[in-house]
Amino acid sequence: MGNRVGIALGSNLGNRLTHLREARDMLRGLVEEDTLYLQAPVYQSEPVDCSDRSPDFFNTVVEIDYIGEPYDLLMKTQGIEFHLGRESVYEVNAPRIIDLDILYFGNEAMCDEILSIPHPRLLDRRFVLQPLNEIRPNLILPGDQITISRHLRHLESDEPPLTLVQTTW
Ligand code: AMP
Repeated sequence: MGNRVGIALGSNLGNRLTHLREARDMLRGLVEEDTLYLQAPVYQSEPVDCSDRSPDFFNTVVEIDYIGEPYDLLMKTQGIEFHLGRESVYEVNAPRIIDLDILYFGNEAMCDEILSIPHPRLLDRRFVLQPLNEIRPNLILPGDQITISRHLRHLESDEPPLTLVQTTW
């Protein structure tokens, strides 16, 4: 059996919904067909700490059942980013065709130069917490004691509310 793995998807360049769908399809291609797959609605969010010219993001979260190691998955998510046309070097917070972040990986907790799991900024970002709350409100991350829904309720963030783009996509 694999690990339950949450992945955040974001796009703020070109046809954002198409990019999310293509990344989603490729992620689903990594997993066995009969495993549980969860997918949050797509939300629109204003970019955080980006230049004024930066278009709004489309964000969502999916959860898959992944058999393998965290580093294998990172190689695959980076492969998907490059396949969809992500440039290898972005300026910090520059617009991007697709960004895939591994949010959590079963009960793994790790932090090195390559990978931090759970993702260190997961709990500070409305554009991650809100979609995640739609699929895993009762999830408690490794090392934590508080559910995702409680983190979202108590989030102190300057981010404006997200706009729902599409529930099914
Ligand atoms: P970004 O440009 O924001 O997509 O950052 C990509 C870099 O973050 C990659 O080089 C990864 O090695 C590193 N990274 C660290 N932790 C994670 C994570 N949980 N998910 C995805 N990338 C990560």
